[in-house]
Amino acid sequence: MAQLVSTDPATGAVVGAVDVTPADQVPAVVARARAAAPAWAALGTAGRAARLRPLAAAITARADELARLLTREMGKPLRDAAGEIRSVADGVDHELAEIEAALAPEELDDGRTRSTVFHDPLGVCAAITPWNFPFAMPHWMAFPALAAGNTVVLKPSEETPLIAQAYAELVRALVPDGVLQVVHGADEQGKALVAADVDLIAFTGSRAVGKQIMAAAAGGLKRIILELGGKDPLIVLDSADVDKAATFAARNCFRNAGQVCVATERIYVARPLAERFVSRLAVEADKLTVGNGLDDGTRIGPLVSARQRDHVLAQVGDALARGATLVRGGEHDGLFVQPTVLTGVSPDMAIAREETFGPVACVTVVDDADEAVALANGSRYGLGAVVFGADDDRTRQVARALDAGMIGVNQGVYGARGAPWVGARESGFAFHGSRDGHRNFTQTRVLSRPR
Ligand code: NAD
Repeated sequence: MAQLVSTDPATGAVVGAVDVTPADQVPAVVARARAAAPAWAALGTAGRAARLRPLAAAITARADELARLLTREMGKPLRDAAGEIRSVADGVDHELAEIEAALAPEELDDGRTRSTVFHDPLGVCAAITPWNFPFAMPHWMAFPALAAGNTVVLKPSEETPLIAQAYAELVRALVPDGVLQVVHGADEQGKALVAADVDLIAFTGSRAVGKQIMAAAAGGLKRIILELGGKDPLIVLDSADVDKAATFAARNCFRNAGQVCVATERIYVARPLAERFVSRLAVEADKLTVGNGLDDGTRIGPLVSARQRDHVLAQVGDALARGATLVRGGEHDGLFVQPTVLTGVSPDMAIAREETFGPVACVTVVDDADEAVALANGSRYGLGAVVFGADDDRTRQVARALDAGMIGVNQGVYGARGAPWVGARESGFAFHGSRDGHRNFTQTRVLSRPR
């Protein structure tokens, strides 16, 4: 059987391997998932929650080992990997309680008719996930599907099969056979899974693949949840605390070497603050140690692959050729790319339009808030957006004018517990998280009778 060999992007060393699932065997995997579905659905939300709740403790018991595996396979610094593992474990109880509440039958009575609205399992869910949060993403796509009573076939990224397999094994120890299965491989296996007899495709990944999935799902009118790429803007208004804005920008441009769907990829800064903002951003970039994620003190690991590095460097090269100015960085060594700060970025540059997914801060100076909003909204993407400014009506107006799914004001885009994770425009279709997001993993049914 062909093997998928996983290598450490920091060293090139082999971390491990998994068997590739032959694409022609995917329908049989899905058939097993379908056979397991009725009994899993029959447990009810409370019964399933009882089975899944020990996942938190099971992850916590192996947290250190999982974090090391994540770092070795994907490259992110160990403390970030540990944070990713912990965030999944910490969220389990809340998520299960939220799902139970979201899926409880609702009673309606208008005096003439009584209706009950149910949120039933859909059947079999395909969960297809990327490599940038390789433990959290399988959980984000598979866990709400399972808790809602679906069985799941997970197809993790071919870059990070081992940590996804480790996640799946922790869940599989808690659920009956066939409830969660894993298909390993790349786009061939992903396509085979989308084409198989699945009822829902929960996908996190690139916009290009999201479009392919939407097209492939159309024939069977299969349900889809697509969490796609972004090109998030940060607007720094002239009323902003410039130091706080620059510190935020450094963190959100360079975290996970920029390989974050809600990374800040475009910065529009008010002219009076621009010089101070850029110099502070450069100082923050200088503080970040680039290296092997397992080494103490590393803040930025390698990019995940040579393909990703080449893509990032090509965008930087194009921007410089078109007149951008290099303030910091630009160099690379193997897959390690120095945090890079560019100014004079204009909309004709690829780096201003297409997702970069690398440690690059792109600064454009603007004359007023209207110009900033127009530039920020001039994108096909609409995942997140952030505005820094005084705590006043003008800042709130700018925030409300931004065409994104998640908007942060003087902070990142992460919402309070219970908020959805949602993209606008070509950054997503349907969404997950929150009461409404959990319901996207179900079939809503209404049963009505006379009063
Ligand atoms: P990708 O789209 O290349 O791959 C994602 C998954 O889809 C992988 O498992 C891949 O094997 C599979 N795949 C590839 N072609 C397929 C096809 N035709 N049919 C079915 N499956 C197919 O994305 P990636 O490079 O792994 O991840 C990076 C992307 O993910 C970025 O665009 C990033 O912004 C996005 N992302 C979005 C979110 C979000 O919440 N919106 C979160 C994380 C990452």
